[in-house]
Amino acid sequence: MQRKEFHGVLSSIKNLLFPPFCTVCCKPVAGVICGNCLENITFIRSPRCPGCGRGMSSSAPGDHLCASCLRTPPLFSTVFAVALYQKPLSTLVHRLKYQGDMAVLPALRIIVEQHPPARLTGNEILIPVPLHTKRLRQRGFNQSALLVDVLFPGNKSLLRVDFLQRHRHTDPQTGLDGRARRKNLKGAFAVRNGVLCSGKRVVLVDDVYTTGSTVAECSRVLLRAGASEVHVVTLARVKE
Ligand SMILES: [Zn+2]
Ligand SMILES: [Zn+2]
Repeated sequence: MQRKEFHGVLSSIKNLLFPPFCTVCCKPVAGVICGNCLENITFIRSPRCPGCGRGMSSSAPGDHLCASCLRTPPLFSTVFAVALYQKPLSTLVHRLKYQGDMAVLPALRIIVEQHPPARLTGNEILIPVPLHTKRLRQRGFNQSALLVDVLFPGNKSLLRVDFLQRHRHTDPQTGLDGRARRKNLKGAFAVRNGVLCSGKRVVLVDDVYTTGSTVAECSRVLLRAGASEVHVVTLARVKE
């Protein structure tokens, strides 16, 4: 028996003894997420607002800026969020972030495959929104850095985890309005070495886009350090 066939037999035995199950609802399924759970994900497809990533309900064809982005143009060039931050996606993000459950990553990959961000040209640098070292030590990992591989598989060579640093441990943003969030974040981020960022097209990766204040503050310091443009890509986005 050849090595490949042997692995095939081993895999069949394993599936017989431990049938694969859906990461969300635990029903037996051939894969990591069942069709029913996948159907419950609301992907944010066109027409979308490229300025904040929200889905547009208007009948105007194509992506276009929403009233809010027309009123206050964002610092970043574009925002792309794969899907709405609702169950079951929010549950998977929660399991990853607060329980360190890495078993959700294959399911997240399948979700992203349904509606992936635009392909990279290879000239970008991928920067995950950083955690403060204190939080990183507590959690043991930065979920945004893990999501870079989920959102852009095979592009680890473009990942730069040390370009952007979180200087200040900020209070939780929940419950704060836009102005209070901006104040809370002021001076929280810094670019480690401006030369490394200069003239670069940055793709900033985060888990969830809420009000955009965190990515706006990161964009501000990256652009000030000389980045040519900042594109924001997140796995999920809250519904307004
Ligand atoms: Zn399921
Ligand atoms: Zn917008």
